[in-house]
Amino acid sequence: MKLAFIIVLGTRWHFRVRRDSWSGVLNCPDCQLPRPFLEKEAFKAFTLYWWPLFKTERAGQVVECMHCSARFFPPDQLVRTS
Ligand SMILES: [Zn+2]
Repeated sequence: MKLAFIIVLGTRWHFRVRRDSWSGVLNCPDCQLPRPFLEKEAFKAFTLYWWPLFKTERAGQVVECMHCSARFFPPDQLVRTS
């Protein structure tokens, strides 16, 4: 299984869990173990006191390791076709 090894960091990035977010077990490249992952929607937003005022850019879905909080783009199998 290939994982795109890109970690999104920065104070202006936000990650939101959606109601239909995927969750499941993936091999975490950081932990080097199978870990539970949760899908989140990544977006850049203009913030005021850490509160997002409006979105400026969307980055699609990422998956976050629930153990070490590392974030990755989801593997191809998880990409929605709809
Ligand atoms: Zn991890």
